[in-house]
Amino acid sequence: MNAFQKLGLDAEMLQAINDLGFETPSEVQEKSIPILLEQETDLVALAQTGTGKTAAFGFPMLQKIDFNNRTTQGLILSPTRELCLQITNEIKQYGKYCKGLNAVAIYGGASITEQARDVKRGAQILVATPGRMKDMISRGLVDISKIEYAVLDEADEMLNMGFFEDISAILSHTPKEKSTWLFSATMPKEVATIAKKFMRTPVEITVGSKNMGASNVSHEYYLVNTRERYAALKRLADANPDIFSVIFCRTKRDTQKVAEKLIEDGYSAAALHGDLSQNQRDLVMKSFRTKQIQMLVATDVAARGIDVDDITHVINYQLPDEIETYTHRSGRTGRAGKSGVSMVIVSKSELRKIKTIERIIQQSFERKDIPDGMEICRV
Ligand code: ADP
Ligand code: MG
Repeated sequence: MNAFQKLGLDAEMLQAINDLGFETPSEVQEKSIPILLEQETDLVALAQTGTGKTAAFGFPMLQKIDFNNRTTQGLILSPTRELCLQITNEIKQYGKYCKGLNAVAIYGGASITEQARDVKRGAQILVATPGRMKDMISRGLVDISKIEYAVLDEADEMLNMGFFEDISAILSHTPKEKSTWLFSATMPKEVATIAKKFMRTPVEITVGSKNMGASNVSHEYYLVNTRERYAALKRLADANPDIFSVIFCRTKRDTQKVAEKLIEDGYSAAALHGDLSQNQRDLVMKSFRTKQIQMLVATDVAARGIDVDDITHVINYQLPDEIETYTHRSGRTGRAGKSGVSMVIVSKSELRKIKTIERIIQQSFERKDIPDGMEICRV
């Protein structure tokens, strides 16, 4: 019996798992899947990014849903459009042998009419961002009065982004008798509040220690003069010719500027931020995913939760305002057990932030020098 079979998964799931090449369940999968399959219960699962949370709720949901029935039975709420699409794709892969499965992504910036049409065809699973979901409900375009499973994915991020009211409004349209599964990397007060408000004695699962960064990610910082940030970035890219990286900037403007400069200087780069149309964003993500571009320059919101395989480096071109965001950024690399590097370009005045991050992630940074040819960077 293989390790996934032992968790209680059916043949359809096992076949999909086999196609995906998953050999052993991750810890969060091992802990949640049997519970979710066996019991009709609420669940709070805390696990860092890249630990396979989508499959942890995806497989049980797929196994429990009746695909001969066209009613909407499962609702997954996620913080961003990109994540919404990603989860939908993942669910489709996990459920490729579930005959009749129809999962629809519901998110802003794309045609509401088309999404409504897809829902009307009979979608058993909706993967939605809270804003668009609320909109569809108020226009009577979706019916979630019969759902049996509600997932709050990346709950900490959704609450960080101010979705508390929307989530409450959405859940008020769902039946009382359902199971709610909350997944989160961290457990701030707001998440506890949501759990208390909407869940009944949830089973609690914690994987690894709370607030810890992925341990297969090493952290490095490079001290530079503020004006040399961009030059430092180029040197880091030059020193790592096979780089496949997300570069984080603080603002949409900086994101666009850095991407433009990189392209001008002959690097394979593209920008991802909220001022681009949804079409442009989808296109950028597609070229990044297929490795047609090596460096994705992004804002935190646009890159949230993105799971692209084999990201070698996360580069913090600027540190985030919220220290906790750093955990999410560095979680883009070192996924599924691979190793990765999270680099921070800092100026002298930001050095104390490094200390704070070290305390939060319980890992220390290595101070490194910008690769040769950049004496000007040395402070
Ligand atoms: P999280 O939501 O915890 O950040 P994801 O669900 O996005 O993580 O999964 C991260 C990556 O790991 C995905 O590429 C997924 O396909 C892969 N993955 C998930 N479970 C396994 C497994 N058991 N074995 C190998 N890879 C896995
Ligand atoms: Mg996830």
